[in-house]
Amino acid sequence: MDIILAESAGFCFGVRRAVSMAEKAAEERGECVTLGPIIHNEDVIERLRSLGVGCVDSVDDVKPGQTVIIRSHGISEDELRQLRERTDNIIDATCPDVSKIHKTVKQESDDGRTVIIIGQREHPEVSAICGWCDSALIAESPEELRRLIIEHPQLREIPVSVVSQTTNKREIYELCIKILKKECTNLKIFDTICFATSKRQSEAEELSHKCDAMIVIGGKHSANSRQLADICRERCGNVLFIENENELDTGLLSDAETVGITAGASTPAWIIKEVNQKMSDEMMVKNENAETESFEEMLERSIKTLYTGEKVVGTIAAITPTEVSVDLGTKQSGYIPLSELTDDPSAKPEDIVKVGDEIETFVIRVNDVEGTVMLSKKRVDSAKAWNEIDKIREEKETVEGIVTEENRGGVVVSVKGLRVFVPASQTGLPRDAAMTELLKKPVKLRITEVNQSRRRVVGSIRAVAFEERKARAEKVWEEIAENKEYTGVVKSLTSYGAFVDIGGVDGMVHVSELSWNRIRQPADMLSVGDSIDVFVISFDKEKKKISLGYKGKGENPWITFTNIYKVGDIANVKIVKLMPFGAFAEIIPGIDGLIHISQIADRRIGKPDEVLTEGESVDVKIIDINNEKQKVSLSIRALIAPSAEPEAVEAEESAEDAVDAVVEDAEETAAETAEAVEAVQEAAAEAVEEVAETAEEAVSETVEAVEEEAADAVDAASDAPEAAVEAVEETTEEAEKE
Ligand code: SF4
Repeated sequence: MDIILAESAGFCFGVRRAVSMAEKAAEERGECVTLGPIIHNEDVIERLRSLGVGCVDSVDDVKPGQTVIIRSHGISEDELRQLRERTDNIIDATCPDVSKIHKTVKQESDDGRTVIIIGQREHPEVSAICGWCDSALIAESPEELRRLIIEHPQLREIPVSVVSQTTNKREIYELCIKILKKECTNLKIFDTICFATSKRQSEAEELSHKCDAMIVIGGKHSANSRQLADICRERCGNVLFIENENELDTGLLSDAETVGITAGASTPAWIIKEVNQKMSDEMMVKNENAETESFEEMLERSIKTLYTGEKVVGTIAAITPTEVSVDLGTKQSGYIPLSELTDDPSAKPEDIVKVGDEIETFVIRVNDVEGTVMLSKKRVDSAKAWNEIDKIREEKETVEGIVTEENRGGVVVSVKGLRVFVPASQTGLPRDAAMTELLKKPVKLRITEVNQSRRRVVGSIRAVAFEERKARAEKVWEEIAENKEYTGVVKSLTSYGAFVDIGGVDGMVHVSELSWNRIRQPADMLSVGDSIDVFVISFDKEKKKISLGYKGKGENPWITFTNIYKVGDIANVKIVKLMPFGAFAEIIPGIDGLIHISQIADRRIGKPDEVLTEGESVDVKIIDINNEKQKVSLSIRALIAPSAEPEAVEAEESAEDAVDAVVEDAEETAAETAEAVEAVQEAAAEAVEEVAETAEEAVSETVEAVEEEAADAVDAASDAPEAAVEAVEETTEEAEKE
């Protein structure tokens, strides 16, 4: 015959804690009483009685000044008040998991929500929970819950909060939650079945499935033991529900090849051991060593004391929006506050851990009065992270982190649970930009310094951005070709053009490429930061220069003009510029024509402004279109009746031709001069940029040095409170030990 002992059989941590508090009270204070039986187990009660721990049924039975132990089920707020009126000697052994329910229902009730408890109304834990809120509705089963909703139809609309008796059967609880989710429109669910109970029930379920017989050890009045027996009976035909070895009839197990043993939360280890021993002796079977070992390990764990700074492994028992409960297998209830779970303020606990996960943590505070242990996952992660981060620095890897705070010298990025300081000059932001814009954002960075003894890690976001830009630039230079199109971002504007980032490389759109119309400067059309479509006109890989065209320039207006007009047509034009030799007039946007001075009037005039003014509209005849030079000659005189003699006209025309030639030459010279000026401007701008970059680097190095000093000061300042807290904790701990 094989005997299998359930791992979680016996005392839960809440009961174990209550019993050991009672034993300690008897030892230190002499005679005392528990308010109600401390657990549903006669053997334990008898043993405690022999130590001087009696039992009273109600607060009225407590003598003034008497030492009273509140059992793990807890009591109502009203009973607690009455008890305090009778005695100051109160030892509160309420299970921490039960105390949490008291706090929850009180808060929910204060918030104006109706509390529903899924549990047995006669159970002392449920009665006590009721006493921590204005009023509560109780449902023992799904059927009762359905009736409750029919009797109180307002539950469908009003705010409802639901909790469970800690030792409830999970199956019943799940069915009830399903009903409530369907019926109630404003529901808050608090899954308060304790992990010890869930685990014990699921193990009993599994064992009873594979064993021929099951022994359930527990008090007949113990709700959780009765539930265990019920669970086993649903899956196994031979279940013995006994209180101790005296009730064990081994004859009923003679046909079984495999026997499973489990025990309720109020069954002490020694009773389980006695039953186990009787089985071995009478059935002439030997228990596996492994089982004996695990049993002894279990006993050892149950009396283990935890210390601040100790590393412990536990199992995730429950997850709420603010904390994670951890079963440590000890007499204390472990929990990780959200702030000790992760540094990421936007992370949800359920995304980081799952119920049933094994987790390694650091003990950061032990509260023996409340029976709780505050744990930190973040600090374990941080310890591992130091080695990892140093390796990352050595291998020049890129890491990701979240910007968590901004300080005088820069920003702090959380990387693998460590605080990485990034000086302002290394954030990649322009000098006067607000660093707050990085807060709570994910960033990529390079680790530049790791000093574990000073708890200092320094990183650079700019280094990664620089390398990424460099890689993108290399790709651009590899693939660049004339007419290739890009969408770029305007980085800076000068009087002669716009510098556009086309992906790690800047190209220039000359002012003449921005528009067919005359514009004074690029800033008339663009702003820094604009995203624009451009194409490559030409490039020089050696000199690293790219000349860009602007896609937004639109269609060439010369084509539009020649599609509309031909020589001899009459057009209404606007005088845009008066010159000594004639007037320029806009025919369509982007196309101007020249009305030579001789074509302005049917008489000889000294200057164009004798007849015309800038801005006025006049009718003209198109007398010449030069496609090669894209020039148009206009005439007002041609629309007035001809009067001059042919010789005079001929002479005048040759004079006009001479003037045209002079004008053209002048225009060409002006254009060449403009080009030369542009070249000089560009060269000057480049020189200025180079000087500015050198100056910026020099300033940046100086700033970095100052920032690092500032960061040291900030680090030292931020470490000070932690060091103080640690010192206080150590002192407290030592005092407690003493
Ligand atoms: S069963 Fe759970 S809630 Fe109840 S006393 Fe034990 S640990 Fe606490």
